[in-house]
Amino acid sequence: MIISIIGIGLIGGSLAITLKENGFASHIIGSDIQQENLDKAIRRRLIDEDLPMEEAIAKADLIILSTPVDAMLKLLPKILDLVDQQIVIDVGSTKKRLMELVKNHPKRGNYVSTHPMAGTEYSGPEAAIPNLYDNKYTVFCDVEDSNPNAVNLVKQMYRSIPMKILELDTLSHDIHTAYVSHISHISSFALALTVLAKEKDEDRIFELASSGFSSTVRLAKSSPDMWVPIFRQNRDNVLDVLDEHINQLARFRSLLIKQDFKTFYQLIEESNQIKKIIS
Ligand code: NAP
Repeated sequence: MIISIIGIGLIGGSLAITLKENGFASHIIGSDIQQENLDKAIRRRLIDEDLPMEEAIAKADLIILSTPVDAMLKLLPKILDLVDQQIVIDVGSTKKRLMELVKNHPKRGNYVSTHPMAGTEYSGPEAAIPNLYDNKYTVFCDVEDSNPNAVNLVKQMYRSIPMKILELDTLSHDIHTAYVSHISHISSFALALTVLAKEKDEDRIFELASSGFSSTVRLAKSSPDMWVPIFRQNRDNVLDVLDEHINQLARFRSLLIKQDFKTFYQLIEESNQIKKIIS
């Protein structure tokens, strides 16, 4: 199967490595806004060749759109205008606007909306790694709007990785990803800013940073090019969960002021319930 990947960064590049390695793809074409990214992708053997988007689409059986989500709004309608039998997927982190945009496109059936739930804080083709997706979930959105043969092929692709599959409607996808992914990024950006504002001595941060601090602040290394478009598109859901998060922080603050460590203890115990869900 010939696969063209539009936007050959962390997510597209990691898919390229895996699908080539497991034999699902026989040939991988890359297309990207930056020639430098394509050169790196060729050097790293993520892709077999690079082509301009129109040629990459014409030559492919399957097209994977893996740019930031704002670029997807421009690119997906154009890609659907150009396809004939080809199947198209996106891997974006937000879905509502994209799905509304192509809802009535004559080639809507050729398109399958997916979100592989795996990533790191790094970007670009140099960040692509093997095994990123192993045994993680991919969310498929509004599958009833895609042709069954397209859905089956894309499921086959993800299962070959191997990944598990979950089907959701678009609105639920955007709400749940605000809870399990988007809020933790804001929380991490804010924590990094807090510590940078309070601790002016960078060497001290480096010397004293515990593994707890490093793991909670890890997501603050993520790229604004990828995250600002996500917050723009999922603004309402993110605002809703951010309000709840601010309430929770305010609760801890108020307990500290009142020196109510009994309730503080209970809140930590309550938060420990997360262990039952995530080991
Ligand atoms: P990335 O590493 O920055 O890769 C995106 C690539 O697309 C970059 O090479 C970028 O080039 C290129 N690009 C930007 N605009 C383009 C355009 N108009 N035409 C062609 N190429 C373009 O980002 P990523 O982490 O792989 O994320 C890609 C998608 O996957 C996003 O939609 C994101 O929401 C989704 N996703 C991300 C994660 C995660 O944890 N990172 C997880 C699941 C899904 P530049 O060098 O100019 O930026």
